[in-house]
Amino acid sequence: MKLPIYLDYHATTPVDPRVLEAMLPYYTENFGNPASRNHKFGWTAATAVENARKQVAKLINATAKEVVFTSCASESDNLAIKGAAHRNHEGRDHIVTLATEHKAVLDSAQRLGREGFRVTLARPRPDGLVDLDGLRAAITDKTLLVSIMAANNEIGVLQPLAEIGRLCRAHGALFHTDAAQATGKIPLDVEAMQIDLLSIAGHKMYAPKGVGALYVRRRGTPVELAPIMDGGGHEGGLRSGTLNVPGIVGLGKACEICRQEMPEESRRLAALRDRLKDGLLADLEGIHINGSLEHRLPNNLNVSFPGLDLAILLAALNDLALSSGSACNSGTPEPSYVLQALGVSDEVASTPIRFGLGRFTTDEEIDFCLARVVETVQRLREIAGTAAA
Ligand SMILES: *Cc1c(COP(=O)(O)O)cnc(C)c1O
Repeated sequence: MKLPIYLDYHATTPVDPRVLEAMLPYYTENFGNPASRNHKFGWTAATAVENARKQVAKLINATAKEVVFTSCASESDNLAIKGAAHRNHEGRDHIVTLATEHKAVLDSAQRLGREGFRVTLARPRPDGLVDLDGLRAAITDKTLLVSIMAANNEIGVLQPLAEIGRLCRAHGALFHTDAAQATGKIPLDVEAMQIDLLSIAGHKMYAPKGVGALYVRRRGTPVELAPIMDGGGHEGGLRSGTLNVPGIVGLGKACEICRQEMPEESRRLAALRDRLKDGLLADLEGIHINGSLEHRLPNNLNVSFPGLDLAILLAALNDLALSSGSACNSGTPEPSYVLQALGVSDEVASTPIRFGLGRFTTDEEIDFCLARVVETVQRLREIAGTAAA
């Protein structure tokens, strides 16, 4: 077993060796620009991109034409939210999102608010799920877009996408979901869930950093978006810029692997996660599990350790690569805005550790992690107790 142990799969994942192998030829011999229409170099690259588009589409029950390649999920979120608002605002000026969304969604909505759109921040219930009655009351015939994530990046809770999709459709509002954490981890079906726009991040699902995708509905009522970037009109005019062919090939391959291995991988990781959870609860009193355990990613556990200093705890756990929450916010002593939105105490909101398991996590690593956390928390509590006495 190699130390430190990586348990931060929500921040990013390693590239699966099978994904890397698929990508490599597109850096060297197959280096063509898919926009080059007059020679074999271009055709080879274009064929690879179209194959990847089909692989991505298949994972979420979309069609290849509905997949737009981007650089990351943040870009996909920006394109979905700003692109929808700037194209469809006639008569509709209202956007609904959730207080526990990723900053790429919250800050995009906030910018639209400064432009004159009305923004409603829906509140989650104490278990992290959106309050459907509150959401129903918030959506009106003026609502242009509802953006609610599939899975939360800190607490891993899964939102009721099909119910949200039904509410949106009934009011003629577009439904965007940030599925950066969910794609490849849980089944997603844009048709059954009536999703209009869905954001994907390559580097959260064993593809490389620097590639993402946005699903944009074309079947039924097609979604029109205003592009963010002007230029050569790539990706149906929605995302100008020469395509990242190796990254796109990698994302396609990663989607294919996830589609084939998801049931088995989910079962294995949920069992490991539950072993960790049960062990922590058995050996440590006064800890707090954040978010619904029932509606949750199989690879996520989020636990608060009230009474301890989180920075000291994480430093003491230096052979475990862990995070307090979102990578973007860690390192600051601020309490988690996600946990605060759930209505927990400041003590709980300030002391979370996010355990993110993944494809390469082993039983042995989880056993080591459990023992290390228990022993470290007990030792720090003893020191704190001695100091207080
Ligand atoms: C990681 C993440 C993002 C941002 O993805 P990037 O590809 O890093 O831009 C957005 N939303 C959620 C829920 C995430 O977990």
